[in-house]
Amino acid sequence: MQLNVVGPTSSSSISSQDLITELQWLGLRLDDPSAGAAGRKGGAGPSDHKAVTVQGRTVMVPIHTHAAHQSPYVARKPGEDGLSTLERDGVVVGSIGFPRQPRFYGLQTFDGIPYWKIAVLHSSDVLATTVLQNCIRYQNQATTCQFCAIGQSLKAGKTVARKTPQQLAEVARAAVLLDGVKHMVMTTGTPNLTDRGARVLCESAFEIKGAVDLPIQGQCEPPDDNAWFRRMREAGIDTLGMHLEAVEPAVRARIMPGKASVSLDQYFDAFEVAVDVFGRGQVSTYILAGLGDTPEAIIRMCERLIAVGVYPFVVPFVPISGTALEAHPAPRADFMRPLLRELGGMLHRAGMTSADIKAGCGKCGACSSLSAYEQEHAGCATAPSTQSVTPVAAAMTKAAGSVSTC
Ligand code: SF4
Repeated sequence: MQLNVVGPTSSSSISSQDLITELQWLGLRLDDPSAGAAGRKGGAGPSDHKAVTVQGRTVMVPIHTHAAHQSPYVARKPGEDGLSTLERDGVVVGSIGFPRQPRFYGLQTFDGIPYWKIAVLHSSDVLATTVLQNCIRYQNQATTCQFCAIGQSLKAGKTVARKTPQQLAEVARAAVLLDGVKHMVMTTGTPNLTDRGARVLCESAFEIKGAVDLPIQGQCEPPDDNAWFRRMREAGIDTLGMHLEAVEPAVRARIMPGKASVSLDQYFDAFEVAVDVFGRGQVSTYILAGLGDTPEAIIRMCERLIAVGVYPFVVPFVPISGTALEAHPAPRADFMRPLLRELGGMLHRAGMTSADIKAGCGKCGACSSLSAYEQEHAGCATAPSTQSVTPVAAAMTKAAGSVSTC
């Protein structure tokens, strides 16, 4: 899909995936900040962004970051059809839409807590929650992940510290019935150095699955005992995310000094057992590009992850206000494009794409344009084996110049 655009690319048109990559880099100014579902500020995981629909694909685009306030992209006030004209430097690029505010936001739990404090809508059809809004690593400057804002939304009174299994089940059921939510992401702050959150994920998933048939992704650090993987699966968790965030040891130590104490070897031991339990492609990891890892290091790590059956969800870093990295720049589109284009091809050739994931961030895909780049390769042959992964050098050479290729 080509859109007319005048911008940093030399051509007069840009593919929708390249436009998404650029919007996620530069962010977006809004003539009408109330358009669509409310954006998110603070909280665990990616934030300071808003769901925007570009050519039928809903993605998260920064709107509250420093860069976004100066973005050349502006969304004009939506018309009666809900569509908004998108301009870049005053030139019309196309039109975009905004998922509507979900109906479940208007309800409250039996014990009087607004549903939106228990779980929120991500993208257009994902229910997301942070079960424990505290983390043992967050309280201390020496251990906190530099990009994390898990305490901000709690401090602002926008969420509650602990969502009970009953509250989560109640909200999940309403979100499915009223808003057609298709899957759920359950993350958690790390409460201890033993199960590392697996226990609360089990308790929550068990209750939710008793209330509604909704595919669930659990997200936690690798637990100390591999038995937790089967327990999570049996409690109703369909897919698992264990997030590396950064890949090179020096970058991990600088960006996430506490979490980096869980070594890459421990992650890979956990990945192998988890893939046995959840299945190939149903275990994923989040990698934040733009924090210091080179594209080559990220591709090399992705090759290793794909080889063991883990889906590497590579996402452009978004600098969240109030965090230690609020002034750190987001990665440029010309950093992300070749990286995601190459990774999209690797995943397609490995037969392990976003479309096959049952639940979670990799399935949602809204925080990255990766799944759009996977689709560039639709129609190309797949070879669902570890043999299909390309060597790094060839990969990056090919990525440097390139458009879609099988
Ligand atoms: S990719 Fe994950 S964090 Fe991003 S919007 Fe989707 S569910 Fe939320």
